[in-house]
Amino acid sequence: MQPPDVNVAERKQIEAKGFRDFLDCSDETGIMWIRRKKDGSCFFLLKNNRCAIYSVRPAICRLEPFTIIDFDYEKNRIELELNVPSACGCQGVFDGETLPIEEIGKAAQMIVQKILALTAKDLGLLVTDKKVASETRSRILRRRIEIANLVV
Ligand code: SF4
Repeated sequence: MQPPDVNVAERKQIEAKGFRDFLDCSDETGIMWIRRKKDGSCFFLLKNNRCAIYSVRPAICRLEPFTIIDFDYEKNRIELELNVPSACGCQGVFDGETLPIEEIGKAAQMIVQKILALTAKDLGLLVTDKKVASETRSRILRRRIEIANLVV
């Protein structure tokens, strides 16, 4: 399972809570990953399996228990699936509260924006280029197949 990633806005929100040195920026893609502890759990997972930054947790954690399975960039529509294996494998992603559907939607949009930005960087194109949207969709679909293969 991969650790959650953050963009600049998410990093600032976490820093505003007083946390420092929580990133592992070793990824050559420039993505900022949250560090894992020695036992493999997230830097922010507390001993009681709660998230220390629950109110500002990254989009990938907010989206749980949904996963993005398709991105129809022609219609600007994101398709989600419920009850798939946790993307980050963390016990702290759910604190028992009911998440408004708008919050799930916002998290999904932010994640697609992150993948678009990363894809644009990889391809050396503007994020608004249609090839970037197309490749982003391909990446999401490939990820869906990877998850499906993990389940069987
Ligand atoms: S929900 Fe879990 S993975 Fe996400 S930031 Fe919190 S402790 Fe880390």
